[in-house]
Amino acid sequence: MSIQSKAAVIVDKGKVEVKTITIPEPKQGEVLVRQKAAALCTLEQRFFTGVFPVYPGVWGHEVSGIVEAIGPNTYTPLKVGDHVARGCGSACDECYFCAIGQDAKCEVEKMRLKAQQKSDREDGIMGIFGLSEYSVVDPRNLVQISKEIPFEQAALSEPVACAVSSANKLDIQLGQTVVVIGAGAMGIANILVSKYQGAFVVASELDEQRRQKALNAGAHAVLNPNLGDIGQQLKDINEGRLADVVIVTIGLEQANKQAMELVAPNGKVMLFASAHPAVPLSIDPNVIHRSGITITGSTSKNRKDLYQASLLIGKKIISVETMIEKVFPLEQAQLAFEMAIQPQNYRIVLSM
Ligand SMILES: [Zn+2]
Ligand SMILES: [Zn+2]
Repeated sequence: MSIQSKAAVIVDKGKVEVKTITIPEPKQGEVLVRQKAAALCTLEQRFFTGVFPVYPGVWGHEVSGIVEAIGPNTYTPLKVGDHVARGCGSACDECYFCAIGQDAKCEVEKMRLKAQQKSDREDGIMGIFGLSEYSVVDPRNLVQISKEIPFEQAALSEPVACAVSSANKLDIQLGQTVVVIGAGAMGIANILVSKYQGAFVVASELDEQRRQKALNAGAHAVLNPNLGDIGQQLKDINEGRLADVVIVTIGLEQANKQAMELVAPNGKVMLFASAHPAVPLSIDPNVIHRSGITITGSTSKNRKDLYQASLLIGKKIISVETMIEKVFPLEQAQLAFEMAIQPQNYRIVLSM
């Protein structure tokens, strides 16, 4: 027996149709999730805008829902009725990276993601089926989340987990100064997480409304690059010092340059955003040699990070409300995608 499920299918560049598709019953090692909300992240947007022209596809990796059924002989701590958040994929637990706790770099998962760009379904639909009322999921890709949290907020566990992953890597210390460049949705996620790591959090943002948003999300102060000498602006509010950590959440050359102006000796620069086009960094090697700064990057998250994010949200330690622009019903998926690709918008969420 299979399940009928409404889903947002990207059928072509710029075109989404809400169709009823069939979802199989969960097999051994799988869980059936009644998905309730899914946010449209850059991955989904890239299929919609044709950067990844793979059609037809049902994507959606920032998802929350309810465990509806558990496959036969499947051993999982989850129970039917639990509320869950899901991430992109499920690590294999066997490769080197999984063994050392860096499952975001799982080699087997990379192979699986490639395989998802071909379909073994009769209707030819590819994807991970997050933008669908139902989906069968490997339970290793799910974390439990409190039933008190609205689904549209629970769905943001995955993007928050990416900020948690970055923060864990940065090893932010109490009282350190963290500058977050860019106050879009991911800038806000980094503000929320670094604040609760005990940092003095400063957001640098060109747009007035977004600076206000950063303050609403809990940033202690904001910088305005329009006003010139960004390093001096920071020193003026930070006892004459630059930042211990700079997190760049915009993939622009200008943002990277700004990070170099803001980072203190022995500080860290985190390249959190991907860049399109990818303008090479031009850095005098002597600057790195003398200042001792570390330039690093982060993408995706480990399972631990997803758990930590679901706890931060689920226990109301942080509120992700400021990350959400608007919630649309699944039926309005076309409109939702059109809004999601507007750069000024925060997360657009589909409710199902
Ligand atoms: Zn995402
Ligand atoms: Zn692995």
